[in-house]
Amino acid sequence: MLDNLKETLRTVRCYHSANALEAALQKAQDNELSYLDFLNTLLQQELHNRTQNRLKRRLKQAKFPVVKTIEAFDFSFQTSITKKEVNEWLSCHWIEQRENKILMGPPGVGKTHLAIAAGYAAIFKHFRVIFYSTTKLIEEMIIAEDEQRFESWLATLLKNDLIIIDEMGYLPLKPVYANLFFQLINQCYEYRSLLITSNKLFNEWGDYFGNQTIATAILDRLLHHAEAVIINGDSYRLKDKIKKKDNLPLNSV
Ligand code: ADP
Ligand code: MG
Repeated sequence: MLDNLKETLRTVRCYHSANALEAALQKAQDNELSYLDFLNTLLQQELHNRTQNRLKRRLKQAKFPVVKTIEAFDFSFQTSITKKEVNEWLSCHWIEQRENKILMGPPGVGKTHLAIAAGYAAIFKHFRVIFYSTTKLIEEMIIAEDEQRFESWLATLLKNDLIIIDEMGYLPLKPVYANLFFQLINQCYEYRSLLITSNKLFNEWGDYFGNQTIATAILDRLLHHAEAVIINGDSYRLKDKIKKKDNLPLNSV
């Protein structure tokens, strides 16, 4: 009977309940739980377990390079953006609305940090997220195109609700790749959300894509439902070095 029930639970994919059944029955007996309480507790645990597993799976699938959170972000160092604005992003309404975010600014100002923090928040709100450095994205794109499976590669990518493309703009793209990139942006348009970080301002995107027409077409779709944020200031990476220099006696500089 017990083995049968376990088997049935596994068949209906209640793996946690199947594994916890004996202990749960014992606990119900010890505490004289009602049938209702017993079933309710078992199923609540099943649900909790599934949610936790899904979260773990999605965090793994997102391929974040490191963990970065909003709590670890020092808004007193980075004043071109407020905590209130970032909290708004973390609410993820913009992902529900299929909108985009573009973070632009020089190196070290926290673009990647904020992008990862936003991605984490989205996963905790049950969205599917994937993080790509631009280099990795282009590399995968080229391989898929060479192997004549660009369409299916793109279809897999589009299963995500939020696609983060980090550090766009460091190396100019060859026109043929710019075209593939356009296809990605075009397919995401009003269907999926993109979060792009870049060290280039929009007027430099023509040079980056090596083709003004493609750059305009990309920006047209990207910016239709988007928030563009310019993040300025000193590099956080150099924070301590700058401080140390500031602290030097004047005659030693
Ligand atoms: P960017 O992508 O703009 O070049 P990063 O987000 O990679 O910059 O930031 C560089 C490093 O500095 C990272 O380790 C990041 O966590 C940290 N960092 C940047 N800005 C802040 C900040 N305001 N508060 C705390 N850490 C920060
Ligand atoms: Mg970065």
